[in-house]
Amino acid sequence: MAAKEPEALPVVEKVVISIDTVYTKQLYTFKDSIFKTGSTQLDNGIQTEWISTVNFNLRKPNFVILHHTAQDSLKQTIDTFTKTHTQVSAHYIIADDGHVVQMLNDYLRAWHAGASSWGKNTDINSASIGIELDNNGSEPFSEAQITSLMALLSKLKKTYNIPAQNIIGHSDIAPSRKRDPSALFPWKTLAENGFGIWKDEILPLAPFDFNAELALQIIGYNTKNLNAAITAFKLHYIPEEVNSILDQKTVNTIYSIYLKQ
Ligand SMILES: [Zn+2]
Repeated sequence: MAAKEPEALPVVEKVVISIDTVYTKQLYTFKDSIFKTGSTQLDNGIQTEWISTVNFNLRKPNFVILHHTAQDSLKQTIDTFTKTHTQVSAHYIIADDGHVVQMLNDYLRAWHAGASSWGKNTDINSASIGIELDNNGSEPFSEAQITSLMALLSKLKKTYNIPAQNIIGHSDIAPSRKRDPSALFPWKTLAENGFGIWKDEILPLAPFDFNAELALQIIGYNTKNLNAAITAFKLHYIPEEVNSILDQKTVNTIYSIYLKQ
């Protein structure tokens, strides 16, 4: 019996993994940071010892920061977020018609918050997902856009176990610098759907010794510039009266939100 002719093996072509996009190149620059193990020299001369654990996973976002783009089109925002010189980005952009563009993996740090804080957290970019709503700042937010936003928030909230009250606006975390999302943003609707919190319909009367400034701090606001903090609070919770006046209604509203912390 003749030996069977050997079959020709399929030709294996060399596979070249392309890393020529800026995004992929950026990813590769983090590989050393993530793979780093071994000892470290401390200031007091001590050399740390490395013993690997086997129990770990990725850090995950715990906040969602909402913005409006203050630009005229989705394309303009995409252009801004794909040029290195702008030094700004977000994880998601939601268009007027409800179309959602994702620009960065949720586990990576976008540059949307800038100099900001919420409570003792001073690195909001590290802790959050940034969502930009395509809106010029003076137009209403469309129903399709808000429907997509809530669908996205629902997914993020569930995936990363983000508390409802950790869904806040850019102006909340940077009251001296930012005014987005605008007073037209439907925070009440969002809160009714489990995203963010909202004041009681009938406001509770704040006790006579209630310290509104301290309460704003407990909620999360940086009150170094108290007028800016009050204005940011009102932009979010009393959008029909955005100013820095701390009248009784404002104090009672702060009290109402304070009670939900
Ligand atoms: Zn913003």
